[in-house]
Amino acid sequence: MFIEPSLGKSNPKDKKGHIEVICGSMFSGKTEELIRRLNRALIARQKVEIFKPSIDKRYHEFDVVSHNETAIRSTPVQFAEDIILLAGNCDVVGIDEVQFFDNRVVHVATVLANAGKRVILAGLDMDFEGNPFEPMPQLLAVAEYVTKVHAICMKCGDLASYSFRLSETREKVVLGEKESYEARCRKCFFEDKSQK
Ligand SMILES: [Zn+2]
Repeated sequence: MFIEPSLGKSNPKDKKGHIEVICGSMFSGKTEELIRRLNRALIARQKVEIFKPSIDKRYHEFDVVSHNETAIRSTPVQFAEDIILLAGNCDVVGIDEVQFFDNRVVHVATVLANAGKRVILAGLDMDFEGNPFEPMPQLLAVAEYVTKVHAICMKCGDLASYSFRLSETREKVVLGEKESYEARCRKCFFEDKSQK
């Protein structure tokens, strides 16, 4: 379980920012973990802002919604750079579904953290073929704290870190949930992939 390095309001002038990354496959609880951390920051009376790419409209336009229906209001943005302006004077910036931004989000996270903000990014670390999902590799490199969460393999019940796409489409981004993807462990993922 991730423990915050410091939550209390210290002197704003010596406030140090940092970057946290929450990554994993689909159904691994990334958004739930992001919401858990943001709720704790709210309890600590910190000012929290949440953003997500406007491409992800699976649920409500203005909410970060996890699959278990706990929700926090969020602002959809088209470009990562928009977040620098919109973050204003908040203490904590949460960004969900970060894999749908391009690599400029790495610069954005750095600018925000250097300005003294706590930046928490959640997203997929691998695509449906099991390859690293840009920009996550770069974010993992610049983050102070990295948490990898795991799903449960729907074939064998072991820990899963892969998102297996049930349909045949080859596009990198296919939005969808239970009807389109299943979590898989390494063994089951590569076995099933070789049979496609
Ligand atoms: Zn398995």
